[in-house]
Amino acid sequence: AIDESTCLTGRVIRIHGLICIVQTDDGKTFPCHVRRVLKSMAIDGRNVVTVGDRVWFRPAGSGGDEGFIEKVEGRQGVITRGYRGRQHVLAANVDTVFIVSALAEPGLKVSLIDRYLAAAEIGGVRPVIVLNKADLVDVSLYQWVVGLYTQLGYETILTSAADGRGLDQLRTLLAQGVTAISGQSGVGKSSLLNVVQPGLNLKVREVSDWTTKGKHTTTTAELIRLEQGGYVVDTPGLRQFELWGVVPGEIEGHFIEFRPYIPLCRFPDCSHTHETRCAVKEAVYWGQIHPGRYDSYLKLYHQRPIEGS
Ligand code: GDP
Ligand code: ZN
Repeated sequence: AIDESTCLTGRVIRIHGLICIVQTDDGKTFPCHVRRVLKSMAIDGRNVVTVGDRVWFRPAGSGGDEGFIEKVEGRQGVITRGYRGRQHVLAANVDTVFIVSALAEPGLKVSLIDRYLAAAEIGGVRPVIVLNKADLVDVSLYQWVVGLYTQLGYETILTSAADGRGLDQLRTLLAQGVTAISGQSGVGKSSLLNVVQPGLNLKVREVSDWTTKGKHTTTTAELIRLEQGGYVVDTPGLRQFELWGVVPGEIEGHFIEFRPYIPLCRFPDCSHTHETRCAVKEAVYWGQIHPGRYDSYLKLYHQRPIEGS
C-alpha cells in the first residue's frame, strides 16, 4: 500500500526513455521515475506507464522537483496502434477523437469515417465527426451525411478553417479533457488546430513505418496543454489510428446500429455477408441500416484497404 497523503497526482504528458514527465493539474511538471514494483507488472516488457496515464507520484530530489511514480490509475479510452494481435497503447485516457474529413480536396470518404468510428468504439473513445472545408462546397448537398451520423448519435460538425464556421464548437470540445485528431493527410487537421490555437506547432507528421512489417518503431506520443484548458494528443502514429489488431468477427458490434439486429440473425455466428436470414441484411433492405454503412462494414470485414487510409 502506498501512503497517498505524501503523493501528488498528475498526468503523464511525455516519456523520455525511463523518465516520465508528469504534469499536475496546476501546470507544474515533474520528471519522474517509475517504481520497480510497478515495472514488474509490465506485460511483454512494455511500459506500465504510457502517455495520458493519471498517476500518483511522490516528490523527490533536492528541490522536490522530481518524483517517483507509485501508482497508475485505470485507463478509460485508449488509442492503439500495432499489427494484428500486437496492439500497442499510444495514449491512454483519451476522451474524444476528432475524425476529420474534407468535403472537398480530397473529398468525402464515408468508408474511412466508418473505419475510424469503429476504431474509436473499440478504444472506448468518444468520436466527433468533423467535416472540414465546408467553404468549398454547397453544404446542402451534404446534409444527408450530417443527418446519418447525427442519427447514429455521433456529434457531427461542419467546419472551415478558411471561413471559421464550426470552430467555436471545436474550441469548446477541445477545452474539455484529452482530444486526439485523426484523419487522412490534407483534410485540414493542422489548419483547424492552428486557427483554434495559433502557434500550436504540432510536430505530427505523416509516418508510414507501420508498413515495414514487424519492425519496431518508437512512437513518441505527447500531450499538449491548450491555453483554454484541455489537451491535444500529438503523435505521428495517431494519423494511422487504425484497426489492424481487429479480427473481422469483432467488427460487427462496433457498427453501433447493427447491435439490435445481430441477435436476430438465423445463425449465431452470422458474419452478415453471405448468410441467409440475416437480420442485419434485412435491416439494410428495409432501410433501417444505411446501405453506405453496410458497405463500409463489408470493406472492413474483408479487410479491403480504403483509398486514402
Ligand atoms: P492536414 O494534413 O490534415 O494537417 O491538412 P492541412 O492543415 O495541412 O491542410 C491541407 C491543405 O488544405 C492546406 O493547403 C490548407 O490550407 C487547406 N485547408 C485546410 N482547411 C481548409 C478549409 O477549411 N478550407 C479550405 N478551403 N482549405 C483548407
Ligand atoms: Zn447476420
